[in-house]
Amino acid sequence: MSLCYYCKKPTALHKMKNGVRVPNNARTVDHKVPLSRGGRNVAENKVVACYGCNTEKGKLTEAEYRTVLYYRHTETQRESDQAKQLLGSYDTIDWTLHDLKLLYEAGVSCE
Ligand SMILES: [Zn+2]
Repeated sequence: MSLCYYCKKPTALHKMKNGVRVPNNARTVDHKVPLSRGGRNVAENKVVACYGCNTEKGKLTEAEYRTVLYYRHTETQRESDQAKQLLGSYDTIDWTLHDLKLLYEAGVSCE
């Protein structure tokens, strides 16, 4: 069983068919740094993600998407443990909290 790298929920193999809605739990490969943002198509940049997270993440980097998840989390007052989990791999980011807040408030489009 492969869990989604972002939401930690189980993913399932799904055959993509034209005209059939893809379920949110369908297993996809996500590039942590999108190819369109200069990410490389190598194993270190690839993770398993559910279709729901992958499409929502769009062209965001992992750090940007985790920011979105973090703010959504704090807004909805979910368990604080989950927020800490989401922030677990955050140490590479060098943005200030102020930058992150601006990003969130600007609304992040998904492509
Ligand atoms: Zn997911």
